[in-house]
Amino acid sequence: MACAPDHDRQAPALQVQRVSKSFGETVAVSEASFDVARGEIVALLGPSGCGKTTTLRVLAGFEQPDEGIVLIDGETAVDETVWRPPERRRIGMVPQDFALFPHTSVADNIAFGLPHGHRAWWTRPWRRLRRVDPPPRVQELLELVGLHGFGDRFPHELSGGEAQRVALARALAPEPAAVLLDEPFSNLDQNLRASLRLAMRRILKAADTAAVFVTHDREEALSLADRVAVMREGRIEQIGAPDDIYYRPETRFIGSFVGDANILPATSFRHGAETELGFVILLNPSEGEDGRPLDVLLRPEQLALKIAEADDAEAARVINSEYYGHDQVVRVRLPSGLQVETRLRTEVVWQPDDPVQVVVLDDAIGFAR
Ligand code: ATP
Repeated sequence: MACAPDHDRQAPALQVQRVSKSFGETVAVSEASFDVARGEIVALLGPSGCGKTTTLRVLAGFEQPDEGIVLIDGETAVDETVWRPPERRRIGMVPQDFALFPHTSVADNIAFGLPHGHRAWWTRPWRRLRRVDPPPRVQELLELVGLHGFGDRFPHELSGGEAQRVALARALAPEPAAVLLDEPFSNLDQNLRASLRLAMRRILKAADTAAVFVTHDREEALSLADRVAVMREGRIEQIGAPDDIYYRPETRFIGSFVGDANILPATSFRHGAETELGFVILLNPSEGEDGRPLDVLLRPEQLALKIAEADDAEAARVINSEYYGHDQVVRVRLPSGLQVETRLRTEVVWQPDDPVQVVVLDDAIGFAR
């Protein structure tokens, strides 16, 4: 085992406490706090410029925070008085472009990640003259990332997905406390991304290491991570399981950023709200008098359509629909003129101007106005 002997296996792999970092006038990260457990995958999700990469770079030790503490396996990596350089942090990094050595075989690329003692084999000058099996740890990593038999290939002989797995194997080689991945899928074919995400998740879970990855792609964050930290203007606005972030967003921004959202004006009533679509129960009912103005968030898949009578003056009308095969998105104009979007199965194909009634299927989230 290549682990440092003195770290605390009980502590979270990463603890980030009130970390802030500015560049001149620009506040890149503001009081960010979160933990990552061993074996856990956390996504940093947010729009461009919200501070995701800077947070990752502070964890890796490429950036010194102005304030805050980072602990890795319970040991201080940085605080007011301590500064551990990147090579002493037990962090593996997978850069956006994978940064494989082009003239070096896959096995040698992975072996480069091993601590020096295990790497002596790599530098032997006669290695090129005589075929030498890579050390067992490299074989083990090749198996882990599903590239058994690829050790002798060179980076230009790999697909994008394979190159990514080699970069991941190299980062995992020294058994780091955590792996950091910067926009891991941005350089890969759009059509392959879903299957590559699954493969990445399987590898990280098998390696049982903590992982933090940066993305601005909500699907990527929701499908790959155990928890998602949504960042906005340097702050972590909410951190939670994908299901929490999606169906129980704490702010309007998160509600709209992590998925398609219908926002309906409403007034509070008991544990719910009166909306143009009728009474809805709120998952987050707020204290206070009835009749306060609210905005209610409902996802398109939380609404259904029923056919209404053609002469029903109260009926909503279909504006248009987009057919995707597995489902369809149907836009509807309510009698007030407000438009809502529904995501439906495709047993009925809706046509523009069809009279419909919109039915709310689930409880909703309310935001005070
Ligand atoms: P993106 O998704 O576009 O990569 P991000 O969420 O990763 O964005 P950061 O790269 O962390 O955001 O940048 C946060 C803010 O800090 C931005 O306003 C950026 O311009 C600024 N910034 C980042 N690095 C530096 C730097 N070295 N010097 C000056 N400003 C910087």
